[in-house]
Amino acid sequence: MQNLAAFKELLELPKRIVITTHIKPDADALGSSLGLAGYLLKQGHQVCVITPTDYPKFLNWMEGNDDVLIFDGNEEKSQYLVENADLIFCLDFSSLNRIGELGQMVADSDAEKVLIDHHLNPETFAKYVLWSTEAAATAELVYDLIDMLGDADKLTKGMAEALYAGLMTDTGNFRHPSTTPHVHNIVANLMELGADISKVSHKIYDNNSLDRMRLLGFALNERLEIIEGTNVSYFYLTLEDKKRFKYQTGDTEGLVNYGLSIEGINVSAIFIEDPDKVKISFRSFGDIPVNELSRKYFNGGGHKNAAGGATTDSLEDTIKLFRELVLKQTKELNYEV
Ligand code: 5GP
Ligand code: MN
Repeated sequence: MQNLAAFKELLELPKRIVITTHIKPDADALGSSLGLAGYLLKQGHQVCVITPTDYPKFLNWMEGNDDVLIFDGNEEKSQYLVENADLIFCLDFSSLNRIGELGQMVADSDAEKVLIDHHLNPETFAKYVLWSTEAAATAELVYDLIDMLGDADKLTKGMAEALYAGLMTDTGNFRHPSTTPHVHNIVANLMELGADISKVSHKIYDNNSLDRMRLLGFALNERLEIIEGTNVSYFYLTLEDKKRFKYQTGDTEGLVNYGLSIEGINVSAIFIEDPDKVKISFRSFGDIPVNELSRKYFNGGGHKNAAGGATTDSLEDTIKLFRELVLKQTKELNYEV
């Protein structure tokens, strides 16, 4: 952060702080937000974490979870807090359209904005920015920031576990190339602070409903395709499929990765039908920039190896477009490299 000294000074007096993160927060979005919130609360600030939407229940164990305000259904209160904040932290997203209706409120607020993120192409709405696409997770940047403020030793077990959850999930359990020695050093420090990493893993990964497991089985059996002659696979799920398995937020989280685990497959996609749109996720291995594919054709973006998007086209048309792009070897997929 370029203006760290000014930022540090800003935090010397108690502030009214809002922390917000992207739609459908994942473990990094929520974990980095709650880790930071815990720290700022301990420093004497008033802090509220506002998420644009709800999030999976396998994240609700984090310290501070009960005080999270979900914008959907709490619009007026959220607006009041955003309008009256001194400082607004934007975590794990870089463009205000990733927080839905909250985006305009944040843009309109007189509060100073702080952006902490690791996604490409950040917008320039924030005065204080800690941004690096090299960071494995926003939780890594939050830890670094607290460390730069000289306060890493003030983190408690609860904060350490929230940050660890972000690091664990965004690195795919420390398997992605983003997993640097620095990441492992932070993890070591979080463990020294008391983080129970086995508990965090258990809470996040061993909390499935039977319906979710059945949905996984069904998707693997009936909804997984390999595009013949290519190294590309994809899943799709219809509204009816979701209804049949009593779909809950988060039930399809991680499903797309199963495509990549097939021998020879380097690109995996999933197309999930919603009432008003089709939500898409892409994953790739190596030098295949699925974020570019997503930005160009599916109104999305993300990281080189993990991206997403959405479209109002039908599920059928969306899959058709994807298959065509793959079969004509669009350069964004570059799948022979
Ligand atoms: P997921 O597939 O887990 O939903 O998202 C993977 C990554 O893709 C996210 O970390 C985010 O960077 C990006 N992403 C997902 N959905 C969207 C979207 O609708 N728009 C943009 N710009 N990025 C997205
Ligand atoms: Mn993240």
